[in-house]
Amino acid sequence: MQIRYECSLTGEEYVNQKAWRNASLAHCPLHPGGGCGYTRHGTYERYFPPGTRIARWYCRRGHCTFSLLPDCLSARLPGTLDEVEAVVGSVEQARSLESACMELRLEVELPGVLRWVRRRVQAIHASLNTLKGLMPERFAGCEPRLDAFAEQLGVDGVLPVLRQIAAPYLPSLPAPLGFIPRHLHGGEQDRSRQHPAGPDPPVLIT
Ligand SMILES: [Zn+2]
Repeated sequence: MQIRYECSLTGEEYVNQKAWRNASLAHCPLHPGGGCGYTRHGTYERYFPPGTRIARWYCRRGHCTFSLLPDCLSARLPGTLDEVEAVVGSVEQARSLESACMELRLEVELPGVLRWVRRRVQAIHASLNTLKGLMPERFAGCEPRLDAFAEQLGVDGVLPVLRQIAAPYLPSLPAPLGFIPRHLHGGEQDRSRQHPAGPDPPVLIT
């Protein structure tokens, strides 16, 4: 189970400061009263950004691990939310998905790029649409697009800020912003937890 690690660092700062060492989870989320054999459970590695580790806890009674994901990182996708935001933002500004993919110059063939980009755009726009309904006082008048949310919030980086202000709703939002596993939507598998499997994701070469 993924839990939010409230953290204002960028991905690079998180790695450089080894900030997973400061992550803490005072109580078992399933058994706040304790007595369940709740204990720290080391860390696991993510490939992107290189050197990333995620702190983990384990509840013996619930047979459940809890991973503390910092606000800068995508859930169940490699890399940072800023990287996802750059891709989705470029599609919003482009004439078409295809032209955005040409601009992104990803190191894979176009059909693969289209699928890779479309999944990110759909997941983020679905999250924004859900948040319009969950937080109408803030977002009712916004188009479910990053540029509209950026204008409403007065920030450049929307997704890490949404991790903060939409924190209670993260279990109801799809990854990579929220914590609903992508495979439930037929999306990409969570390579961040399946280290040996599959090729690395496409790389931005701009
Ligand atoms: Zn527990």
